Amino acid sequence: MGERAAVVWPGADAWSVEPVELAPPRAGEVLVRIEAAGLCHSDAHLLTGGYAGLRRPMVGGHEGAGVVEAVGPGVTLVGEGDHVVFAFMPSCGTCPDCTAGRQHLCVLGAGVAQGFAVSDGTPRRRARDTDLGSFCFVGSFATRTVVHERSVVRCDPALPLDEVCLLGCAGITGWGAAVNTAGVGVGDTTVVVGVGGIGAMALLGARYAGAGQVWAVDPVGSKRDAATDLGADGAAASTAGLAAVLRDETRGRMADQVILCAGTGDGAAMAEAMALLGKQGRAVVVNVHDDAEREVRMSLRDLQSYEKQVRGCLAGSWSPRHGLSTLLDLYGRGRIPLEKLVTARYPLEKIHDGVADQEAGRNVRGVLLPAA
Ligand SMILES: [Zn+2]
Ligand SMILES: [Zn+2]
Repeated sequence: MGERAAVVWPGADAWSVEPVELAPPRAGEVLVRIEAAGLCHSDAHLLTGGYAGLRRPMVGGHEGAGVVEAVGPGVTLVGEGDHVVFAFMPSCGTCPDCTAGRQHLCVLGAGVAQGFAVSDGTPRRRARDTDLGSFCFVGSFATRTVVHERSVVRCDPALPLDEVCLLGCAGITGWGAAVNTAGVGVGDTTVVVGVGGIGAMALLGARYAGAGQVWAVDPVGSKRDAATDLGADGAAASTAGLAAVLRDETRGRMADQVILCAGTGDGAAMAEAMALLGKQGRAVVVNVHDDAEREVRMSLRDLQSYEKQVRGCLAGSWSPRHGLSTLLDLYGRGRIPLEKLVTARYPLEKIHDGVADQEAGRNVRGVLLPAA
């Protein structure tokens, strides 16, 4: 099958949208026509080489939604014509982490860097006589893809795919970071640093979980406006700038949770986040860091005396299938205003505009429409 996809080649620092050969689905796999694909900052890291050991060439995109056009032998979870959202971490169900209820940490995640089929470790895409990986086994920056049936979750066909696509990464990661990893409780004070798709969902998740105050930090004015529009009590341009406000608003108790959702994190941002926390406050690290980053200088005295905590967060710390099902249901009931998060739409050929808008902070979430 001849398709088009955005590929990052060795030595390149931009997507190349070009013809790609796609093999038909094998046992347990499905062919999906991709109607919408979100531009997440994790894809931008593919261009900058932020992930060491990641295969090139690779088809980008791990967030998306579409329609199943064909199924391979033995597929039982979905059928032809079903509308689906991609789960970027397929869980096997039988490894130690899956059986312990940590499906987001499934052993299959080890294959993400290669991006070949989870079922047999072979590629499904080729271009220029070369095998292509598919980022997170999805590779949604393309007209069609072939993925394992565990990499998709069926959704109500009445829901707009250019909005529900966000739930696959921004949704489960951001909302889950607030509700699961951070453990936001009723009356808590929560700070979200970085208002992209993931930060926006973290903010909404914290609000939904009953936070008393939700504060946002973002250097871009339009994103601070978006944060307050989504229900934040206020927003500051920097973490340091929020400190005085927070001290006042919490009578010195400071934040219960700080959720780090910037495009790229670093040790300095981490230290500033730790300084915003009060007693037993928890910093949740959602944003990706450069592989070479090793430094964080923070008050270890405060860490001990105030019992502060630091937790990493992958995929919102919950089963992608459970997370997606939960959020699809809430969205279907009108509880998640995804329409406010999608700030621009682009045809696949205009992916460079989407990347530029993302880098300039013009989008909460930009969405590609590959099949359009
Ligand atoms: Zn993502
Ligand atoms: Zn597993």
